[in-house]
Amino acid sequence: MSSSYSIATIPGDGIGKEVIPAGREVMEALAAASGGALHFTFEDFGWGGDWYRAHGEMMPADGLEALRGKDAILFGSAGDPHIPDHITLWGLRLKICQGFDQYANVRPTRILPGIDGPLKRCAPGQLDWVIVRENSEGEYAGVGGRVHQGHPIEAATDVSMMTRAGVERIMRFAFNLARSRPRKLLTVVTKSNAQRHAMVMWDEIALQISKEFPDVAWDKELVDACTARMVNRPASLDTIVATNLHADILSDLAAALAGSLGIAPTGNIDPERRYPSMFEPIHGSAFDIMGKGLANPVGTFWSVVMLLEHLGEAEAARQVMEAVEHVTANPSLHTRDLGGSATTEQVTRAVCEHIAGTRQRLAA
Ligand code: NAD
Ligand code: MN
Repeated sequence: MSSSYSIATIPGDGIGKEVIPAGREVMEALAAASGGALHFTFEDFGWGGDWYRAHGEMMPADGLEALRGKDAILFGSAGDPHIPDHITLWGLRLKICQGFDQYANVRPTRILPGIDGPLKRCAPGQLDWVIVRENSEGEYAGVGGRVHQGHPIEAATDVSMMTRAGVERIMRFAFNLARSRPRKLLTVVTKSNAQRHAMVMWDEIALQISKEFPDVAWDKELVDACTARMVNRPASLDTIVATNLHADILSDLAAALAGSLGIAPTGNIDPERRYPSMFEPIHGSAFDIMGKGLANPVGTFWSVVMLLEHLGEAEAARQVMEAVEHVTANPSLHTRDLGGSATTEQVTRAVCEHIAGTRQRLAA
């Protein structure tokens, strides 16, 4: 049986242009090793800062139409040293996330073999988190405005907008994900002590949805206390659900605790599968290292693993993850962010060779 998928690649800016081609190479190696069972067609979209300089926008107005028929999107990073961040972020990444209602942002964290994370007290395998980020509203709803710009009475607001439908669907998604994992454990992150409207509704809805999942154990944690718990009692956490802003911050902390921002993946998922979902490393454009071949491609490779899982290709996903873990276990294949001196290209080649070897081992 042969499966064929059509994949959109959007490298975007900075090191996105280095890690996304690397991710595509790994997928091509996987297809080659499958002996015809797996086939990918790629379409590459040159949107981002360069597109903005040429066309005055980060992506074409009808860009979503070009993506709509794809099975999945592999995204690099939006962020250019010469364009304000709110333009690059809202003009490309958020346009796709919101346009395709990818309301669940899923971010796994594990300490991969061979990687020296700050959480040394954690035995290998003890740290296995997945953070679910509400990805469609909340603090990033874009509700607000500025008045009296430039005058002494200038005022500005960013209103966190939470809807009952939006909170119910992310809670249900998180409880379902927790149920699918061995520990069946969910922590709901909140800040309802200080924010007494939307966050109180968030808590109420968590309690309401929990009744649909009597087999899932859950608790509630204030976001500030949660940062301390991630450092001091990491094994007490498993699945975590948080608002758009809270989860944005917690997941960078999670990535740093696991060793580097360069290895962490994420999926922007439309659980109803009305639209293509989008997978990306969580890091940004990394202006300080772009163009030097120093970018760690592991976050992109792990994102490819999530993409394959989303497509239902569990065996292919496992194969890529095994190749990634084989490579991280070897310190001579660590990039600079992990304390090594390997290049993007060397890490990519090693992962591709391991995938190719899988086939030879199977054939032998
Ligand atoms: P960043 O993730 O780009 O970089 C933070 C630090 O981590 C830098 O020192 C960088 O060198 C390092 N780093 C990140 N990824 C790495 C990798 N793969 N390998 C090795 N080192 C890596 O975050 P930033 O500096 O806050 O942001 C830079 C730009 O990226 C900004 O324009 C920002 O808006 C944008 N950004 C975009 C996204 C996105 O598109 N999803 C996410 C975060 C930041
Ligand atoms: Mn972030």
